[in-house]
Formats: sequence, C-alpha cells, structure tokens
Amino acid sequence: LAKEHGHQPFQFYTPALESRASRMLNQEQLLRQSIAHGGFELHYQPQVRCDTGALSGFEALVRWRHPQRGLVSPEEFVALAEARGLITAIDRWVLRRACREACGWYAQGMPRVPVAVNMSAQEFRHSDLASDVAAVLAETGLPAQLLHIELTESTLMHSDAQVQRTLHALQQQGVEMAIDDFGTGYSSLAYLKRHPIHQLKIDRSFITDLTENDDDTAIVTAIVQMAKSLRLRTVAEGVESAAQLAALRALGCDMAQGYHIAPPMPADQVLQWQQDYCHKLQAQ
Ligand code: C2E
Ligand code: MG
Ligand code: MG
Ligand code: MG
Repeated sequence: LAKEHGHQPFQFYTPALESRASRMLNQEQLLRQSIAHGGFELHYQPQVRCDTGALSGFEALVRWRHPQRGLVSPEEFVALAEARGLITAIDRWVLRRACREACGWYAQGMPRVPVAVNMSAQEFRHSDLASDVAAVLAETGLPAQLLHIELTESTLMHSDAQVQRTLHALQQQGVEMAIDDFGTGYSSLAYLKRHPIHQLKIDRSFITDLTENDDDTAIVTAIVQMAKSLRLRTVAEGVESAAQLAALRALGCDMAQGYHIAPPMPADQVLQWQQDYCHKLQAQ
C-alpha cells in the first residue's frame, strides 16, 4: 500500500487503510463463497451483421450475485479475482454455463449462432485451457465451431510457447478466437501474424464519436481494411445509435454489438428477444 504513494517512503497505518484492506479481504471471502456456491449469472448480448442485420452471435458477460449489493458488474470484481488467483474458477463456470445455455436455445429453435466467452490472460498461462475446453464441449455437446473465446491484446503481447500451444490447440478443435477491445492495447501488430486469430473486436472508445470525429473514422477504417487483408472478421463494440451502425456498414465492418441492438440480457430473455428481433427484421 505504501508503494502506491510515490515519494513517501512509508505510510502510517491509519484506520482508513485498515478498513480498505479489510474490505478487500471481505470481498475476497465473499467471492470465494460465491465461487463455491454458484453465486454468479450470465447475461448475453447479441451481435448482428452490419449489412443485413441478421443475428450473428451472443457474448456471455458474467455478473456476481452479491449478497448485499445485488448484481455486480465484472468491472468491479474481475481485477480482484485475477489478483487472488480466482479468475480461472469463475471463467470455467462461465464457459460451462454458456455452452449449456446455448445448447438449450438451439434445442428450442434458435438459429445456431456462436456464443462468445471472455478469458483472462492467466488462463492461457497457468491452466490447461485447451483440454478444459475440449472437456466442456464434450460434456455439453456444443459444437466447437459455435464457441468463440475473447482474449485481450495483452494476452498475446506477453505470449510464450505455452500461450501459443494453447491457442493452436483451441484452433485445432475448431474454436475461434477474438481479440477484445482491439486498438487499446499495444502498438505492435506482429502478434496478429503469430497467432491463430479470427476476429477483431473494435474497442468502444473508437465507436462512441465515430459519426462526429474524423480521427475515429480514420482509425476504424484502417482497422477494417487491415482485418480484411488478414481475412479477419470485425465486430464493433458499444454501438449505441442507428447513425453509428450506418457508418460502420458504410466502412465495411462485419458485425455490431451494443445498446442500439440490445443491452446484455438474462439468459431466460434471449429466446423471446431473438424471436421479436427476427420479426422486426422481416417486417422491414
Ligand atoms: P467486454 O468484453 O469488452 O464487454 C463489453 C462491455 O461493454 C460489457 O460490460 C457490456 O455490458 C458493455 N457494453 C455493451 N454494449 C455497450 C454500449 O452500447 N455502450 C456501453 N457504454 N457499454 C456497452 P460488462 O458486462 O460490465 O463487462 C465488462 C468487462 O468485464 C468485459 O468487457 C470483459 O472484459 C469482462 N468480463 C465480462 N465477463 C467476463 C468473464 O466471464 N470472464 C472474464 N475474465 N472477464 C469478463
Ligand atoms: Mg468481451
Ligand atoms: Mg470488448
Ligand atoms: Mg470493451
């Protein structure tokens, strides 16, 4: 803690610090209990094609059912879970749950579009992700082609032989990989050459002002063009307006995800949403 305060060589132990430390400990304990007792749920956010509007997939986003605070966003607990070595347990739960829920929708007549899950960098380094994925696919019956894994640029920038092996093993199975928050990580693009990647998810920060800001237009144009040359698909994140969707369509971006299409929704609303969306699309 003292380190965070820069030039100060040490910090007196104050009640404020103590309560911060004990708050963290408390959160960690609650998190551990939730992992043991399944205290999470998944919300799903649709992705659609920019040209036709057709549904192209869903991303699974985890929420923590906090005993006092209700549903808590991953923004508030993923960092702690990573720091305490708890993220793999959470992500394995997410993986199994998402595969199972997707199979349930297909069985009820939903088009067989892929489901995407987020994976922290740790899983590629300290766990046998590829064989765990194979086991979950076998157990749930989800075809590998219908599973996408989202990873961040930093996972690939610091990748070693182990990370490369894992990615290739996943690709061998037929699982597709997407780079999340693309454009916010690092300037070197060499990693795109070295790894089996299928999709770039263009970060929301480039989409927010897309229709007013020429720099954002230039960046998104460049990403889409590069992706086309590398035969990667592009997904725009955080699409909040019809104008943004139209701009993305004009730029040749493949897919869009964001509040304009739909916010993340509980699993039991997905089928109804899909049917309503399908009818709306046909009526156009
Ligand atoms: P992400 O993977 O980039 O997910 C997109 C985030 O943007 C989600 O936040 C989503 O709710 C939000 N979002 C979607 N559309 C819009 C929009 O139009 N406008 C705005 N302002 N926001 C939008 P969420 O669900 O809070 O997740 C935050 C991050 O937590 C995710 O970012 C992902 O990095 C991480 N995360 C989520 N689920 C998991 C998981 O199961 N495992 C791990 N390791 N990380 C996860
Ligand atoms: Mg994601
Ligand atoms: Mg993202
Ligand atoms: Mg993002």
